[in-house]
Order: sequence, then C-alpha cells, then structure tokens
Amino acid sequence: MMETNFLIIGSGAAGLTLAVKLADKFPKKKLTIVSKAHEAESNTKYAQGGVAAVFDFSEDSFQNHIEDTLNAGDGFCDRDVVEIVIKDGPKRLRELMEWGANFDTDAEGKLTLGKEGGHSQFRVIHHKDTTGNEIERVLLERAYQFRNITILPHHFAIDLITEHHLPNRNLENNSCFGVYVLDQISGSIFTIKADCTTLASGGIGQVYGHTTNPGIATGDGIAMAYRAKARIKNMEFIQFHPTAFYDGNNGASFLISEAVRGFGAFLRNKNGERFVFGYDERGELASRDIVSQAIDFEMKESGNDCVYLDCTHLNIEAFKQNSPNIYETCLQKNIDVSKDWIPVVPAAHYLCGGIAVDQDGKTSIKNLFACGECSCTGLHGANRLASNSLLEALVYADRIFRYLCKYQPLRNKLTIPEWNDEGTVLLMEEEIFPKKTRELQLLMRRFAGVVRNSKDLREASAQLEVLYSQTETLYRKHKLNTALSQLRNMINVAHLIIQQSLKQNKNRGGFYNEDYSIKTKNEKYATVNAQ
Ligand SMILES: Cc1cc2nc3c(=O)[nH]c(=O)nc-3n(C[C@H](O)[C@H](O)[C@H](O)COP(=O)(O)OP(=O)(O)OC[C@H]3O[C@@H](n4cnc5c(N)ncnc54)[C@H](O)[C@@H]3O)c2cc1C
Repeated sequence: MMETNFLIIGSGAAGLTLAVKLADKFPKKKLTIVSKAHEAESNTKYAQGGVAAVFDFSEDSFQNHIEDTLNAGDGFCDRDVVEIVIKDGPKRLRELMEWGANFDTDAEGKLTLGKEGGHSQFRVIHHKDTTGNEIERVLLERAYQFRNITILPHHFAIDLITEHHLPNRNLENNSCFGVYVLDQISGSIFTIKADCTTLASGGIGQVYGHTTNPGIATGDGIAMAYRAKARIKNMEFIQFHPTAFYDGNNGASFLISEAVRGFGAFLRNKNGERFVFGYDERGELASRDIVSQAIDFEMKESGNDCVYLDCTHLNIEAFKQNSPNIYETCLQKNIDVSKDWIPVVPAAHYLCGGIAVDQDGKTSIKNLFACGECSCTGLHGANRLASNSLLEALVYADRIFRYLCKYQPLRNKLTIPEWNDEGTVLLMEEEIFPKKTRELQLLMRRFAGVVRNSKDLREASAQLEVLYSQTETLYRKHKLNTALSQLRNMINVAHLIIQQSLKQNKNRGGFYNEDYSIKTKNEKYATVNAQ
C-alpha cells in the first residue's frame, strides 16, 4: 500500500495544473499522479486550435465571449459558471506563460489571436497548430521540478475506494479514500490511500472507435465515479468533429482542424458535390454539429465510408504556413493536399457531460474532486464552444486548488482492504478484448452516434446489455488487466450515453434525435454542385 496526501488521476492539462499548484503551495505534502500511459500521453497533447480567452479589450470583451459560449451551449449552460470561467481565463493563461509557455506573437510581441467557429471575435491563443503539446510540455517540465510530486506512468487506476469497500460502511456519507491501481508493467494491483483524490482522466472518444482522441480516452474516470455512485450528467451531449482523417481503421484518427474549412476548403461527396449546402446555407462554415449531421446523412444515404475535404484550389504555401502539422501528417498518409482530396469522417471529439461538479470542482462524493474533460461543470451546456475546454481545465484545476488551500483534507486512520482477486485466473485468449471493443464501437456508431433515434437507442441498450453481462462474467473469473478494465469502463460509459439520450426529449447542441425533427436536404442541393 502507498499513502499520499493528494492523489491525482491523469496527467493532462487539468491534472498537471492542479499538481504543480498544490506541490508549490504545500512543499511538505506528498502528491501522487497516476497516469495509465507515458505521462505526456493525453488528449491535451493533441489539441491544435488553442485556448479561448479575452486579451484584446479594444475589439473584444468578456461579455462577447460569454454570449458566444451561451449560444454554443444552446440554452443549457450554467450562466454563473460561464462568467467565472471566462473572466478567470486570461489570468490562467498568463500563469502558463510565466511558467514558460510560448504562444504565438506578432513582431511587436503582441499575442496573435485566432478565430474559430462560433466565436464572434479573434480570441484564440495558440502555439502554431500544436497548442496542446506546448501546454503539456510546460506543465510536465514544471511538475518534474517538484520533489514532492511522484508521477507513476503506466499505472492504471481501476476503481475508487469508497465507503462501499469498508466493513462498517456509512453509505449516507459516501467518501473517497483513494484508488486501486494496476502496475501495467508488473501486473500487480495495489492500494493508494489518499486524503483527497481528483479525477482528471479526460474524455471518452474511444467508445465510438472513430475518434480524434488518442487510445487513452476510454472514459475510465467517469466509469469509476459512476460505479462509486457519483452523480454523472449530460452524457448525451457529445461533440462530434466533422472532419477526422479516415484511413479505413477503427481507433484514433488525426483531426483536420476547423481552421482548414475556415481557410476555404470544400467538403465534397464521392461524386464531387458540395453537399453541405443542402443542409445549411452556410455550407462548410456551418457549426460543427450541423456539418457532422450533414456528413452522417450523406454517408448513410450513399453507403460510402467517408466524404472528402478538398483543398486543391487553396494557396498551398499559405496553407503550409498556417497548418504545418496537418500538411505534413496528410503527406505521411500519402495525401498531398495540393492535389488530393482528404478522406474524412465525423469522429467523437469532446464530451460535454461527465462527473457532475460544483463551482469548487467537488463531486457528489466527499473528498473526491474532478476537473477537465471528465467533469461536467455547466460551462459547455449542450455544446462546447471551440477552444473553451482547455480553458475550463485550467480554471477548474485552479478552483480545486483554492478550495484545498482553504479546507485542507485530513488524514484518516481507516484500514482499507487490499484488492482481492482470489479465485481468479489469467485469461489466455487476450484477442477477445479487441474483438469485444470493436463490437461496442460499431454498436455505438450505428445506434447512438451523430444522428440518433429512440428505436435505435433501445436496440443499442439491448445489445449493450448482452455485452455487459459477457464482460462482467470475464471480470469475475479472471485477473484484471488494462484491456478488460477499459472494456468494462467503455461499456459503463456507453450505458450512460444511451440511457441519458433516451431521457433527453429535445434536440439541442450535440444531441440530435431524428424523431424530434427530421432534417432533410433542401432544394438548394440541386443548384450547388461540383466546382
Ligand atoms: C485532436 C484534439 C484537438 C483538440 N483541440 C482543442 C483545442 O484546440 N482547444 C481546446 O480547448 N480543446 C481542444 N481539445 C480538447 C482538449 O484537448 C481536452 O478537452 C483537454 O485536453 C482535456 O484535458 P484533461 O486534462 O481533462 O484530459 P487529458 O488531457 O485527456 O488527460 C487525461 C489523463 O488521464 C489519464 N488517465 C485516463 N484514465 C486513466 C486511468 N484509468 N488510470 C490512470 N490514468 C488515466 C490519461 O492517461 C491522461 O494522462 C482537443 C482534443 C483533441 C483530441
């Protein structure tokens, strides 16, 4: 068993920001970060666009950013939270810059501000098209400097330890005492007892297979919190990114940023038609949800596996300048954007819902906090405004830090039972996990994806039930490993998405059930054709 004062699950922007602040403030206290892959691997690392915050008060204002966020959230945001996050944003970014983050500036040293879909002003702070990587670099470098931070890479958090694990349990006052962790190298499972635990475990994209998220995004934190009986909400609001690179495989897909459509790229179907105008008069520049739905309809109607992003008419030198990472990655995938169309599909990109937290990042379980993409603060409502998520991660990590400065958690003297896997055996047929995972991903894409309907959702629920009982049988009989844990977690997350989608009876933001309004192509489709 290991004991620590502050335990943080996850080493992305949210977890690391909290860690470096606590480590600095409490040099005598012990901080432990558990991370299931290399510590740099995270959704954060892949963020391209940037972080939205108001810096230019001559053109922009907090009020503008607040209004844009509320509009994107489609009437479902918590206005107080929106105000808090947006007004705190510039302070959190200045802090990152003091720690060494290099954001792009002009010749006079003024931050160059980008603009993305849904923003009425230029306010996206960025580092070329690799902003997340820069943030992750700075935070990790800072974390390495604190001797009271222990980072445990390749350690997988399996389950939260709560009152449910204790012999004399007090379920009325459910508290968290730490976590059971799997050392992925040795295969051993041990206990980390903590005065206070924070989930900063990121997103869920892998539940859909087609996703911009890396392999770590299997919703573990949300599933653990759900099993521990924490409140989870808004899981039906999933943002699909319209244009992820399609290479015929399941799994993480490279994101072709919105900036490319902003720069003038056309979306075409296999026949070369610019079909998006059939769904929205703004064409390629319609909001993410509309463009994703249009592509989903188009693919289902045509039976094709993808559509295409055409950049061949653009100024390629300027393209290379603005999006060097996208240009190079396409080239590595044998797509020369000056000549070839880029094959794209909508892909699960961002979860607006998650573990419900209050304004201090507290969950419904005592001594358990959550921040970043695994949490649901109320900022995004039904749909996230582009580049508001890193902002939320930074602001809420800071809010948890401030709360913990005021109310320091106490050490408890409880005896925590060790992980007990007596009677379980090693599973020899490991190939079962990728097979079951693909089954789950296909099910979610077909029945609970971009465009849903109640009949499909009920079908998804029935099929998931079968997958759930098969997996629980495997879990009861076999020694736990990462693949089995992730599969269980993704099934829990899928269950939450399906059930909360069935309860949602209004289309808004990232939720679209065709039973509530049928969208079809309009006549414009006939007039806008291949150019
Ligand atoms: C391609 C892409 C582009 C994006 N672009 C932008 C953008 O321009 N602007 C913006 O604001 N947002 C963007 N986002 C979203 C943003 O990157 C994420 O929402 C944000 O980085 C989440 O940070 P986080 O710290 O909450 O989680 P993450 O950065 O995902 O970190 C999660 C951490 O938890 C660990 N973990 C998970 N489960 C376990 C477990 N069971 N045990 C141990 N460790 C675990 C992971 O290994 C990882 O270290 C983008 C996302 C993607 C995928």
